[in-house]
Amino acid sequence: MRVVVTRNPATGEELATYDAHDEAGVEAALAAVHAASQVWGATPLDDRLGLLRGVGKRLSERREEYAALITAEMGKPLAEALGEVDKCAWNCEVVADLATGWLADHEIESSASRSWLSYEPVGVVFAVMPWNFPFWQVLRFACAALAAGNAALLKHSPDVTGCALAIEDLFADAGQDVGCPTGLFRSLVVAAEDVPAVSRRVVEDPRVAAVTLTGSERAGSAIASIAGAAIKKSVLELGGSDPFVVLADADVPLAAATAVKARFTNTGQSCVCAKRFIVHEDVADEFVERFVDHMALLEISPMAREDLRDAVVRQVEESVAQGARLVTGGKAIDGPGWYVEPTLLTDVEPGMTAFVEETFGPVATVTRARDDDHAVELANATTFGLGASVWGSSEHALAVGRRVRSGALFVNAMVASDPRLPFGGIGRSGYGRELSAEGVREFTNVRTMVVS
Ligand code: NAP
Repeated sequence: MRVVVTRNPATGEELATYDAHDEAGVEAALAAVHAASQVWGATPLDDRLGLLRGVGKRLSERREEYAALITAEMGKPLAEALGEVDKCAWNCEVVADLATGWLADHEIESSASRSWLSYEPVGVVFAVMPWNFPFWQVLRFACAALAAGNAALLKHSPDVTGCALAIEDLFADAGQDVGCPTGLFRSLVVAAEDVPAVSRRVVEDPRVAAVTLTGSERAGSAIASIAGAAIKKSVLELGGSDPFVVLADADVPLAAATAVKARFTNTGQSCVCAKRFIVHEDVADEFVERFVDHMALLEISPMAREDLRDAVVRQVEESVAQGARLVTGGKAIDGPGWYVEPTLLTDVEPGMTAFVEETFGPVATVTRARDDDHAVELANATTFGLGASVWGSSEHALAVGRRVRSGALFVNAMVASDPRLPFGGIGRSGYGRELSAEGVREFTNVRTMVVS
């Protein structure tokens, strides 16, 4: 029997060992989730939304327990873990309140006596999810999928297997209140060496209708290729190297304070963390000075895994060798756990590692822009396109922001997801949308209905 071992990133010590599913276990999960999808798709929408209300209520009741599990498995500060659980509960509430409108028939005038769009379930949605927001990433997808009448099969990151199983229990428990079919939400525990083969086997299985993945380009490309060959829809939410553009007329103190939050949330391990600070040269010195002041107040927490820590340190070392200036930080912290000093690099230019690659850790880079055109050129000098944040007087920042390519633009605010707003990227940040009406409809059959 293969096993999955979880470790505490703050100490490196083992937390728990889980038996991985073998082929019989995978088959049983597929059969259960498929059977549940048949029942759930025919369940009235109000009852489906009742499940989400029950899930949200339990998330609020058990917030401390779940937050402690998140922190133990992936290392984020407890306050941030509590915030993550609360946001999941909020998402349940928002979907339960608004999905009736999102999934209502949409009348369209044509030459027929009546024509409309009907949003119908597709069946089982397979989700491959990462460790960085172990509850949020899953609840974000699952609320949308289940509201739409689908069933969910999760392959979570092995680093957060305890969270994966806690979420499975959460749905099963809340499901009992509303007479929900058992097996509607299942988690697969997959040993690292089996991930490619099991993922392929699941995506290709005729009982699985579609797939969604949040994670790296490498994983996204692997899963989407299999889905494409099997002619199944996929949604990809991949990495980002989001620009945070500070124009000459920006409120620099506010921009700098927000910039530190936008970069170092979750120890920098978020796809929508601001990663490249592109600052007009007239305000760059003040911005850097204030940024460093705010960095000094950061609570330092570990990165999720040793290899992720090493990857970030390598990116810093390469960038310095290429000519970037190390203002502060830059090293792994000696001792147990996978800590990296909060790091600031300035004089970062296109072509340098920290500009080209996504830095998934506590490393900020500053690049000076000569003028607005140069700022736009720098912001767009990336293969990614998730969120962009632009700072300046409102009209000016909006005009500059419109020229930056991204899935979302935030003016005088940091990029953050909100259950009421769609979320997703362009380019190598992926495709498709999560959250809001677009996210709920992503895994529906948008069916054209015509009555002569
Ligand atoms: P990752 O390898 O992409 O892992 C994400 C998920 O994909 C995990 O469940 C992982 O499982 C799975 N996976 C990986 N390769 C797969 C394959 N060939 N087939 C099926 N599933 C596969 O991410 P990571 O290495 O943990 O994190 C590193 C990078 O991922 C970061 O630099 C960042 O760019 C990106 N990332 C992005 C987000 C985001 O929110 N967009 C979140 C986390 C990570 P296994 O771990 O078992 O392989």
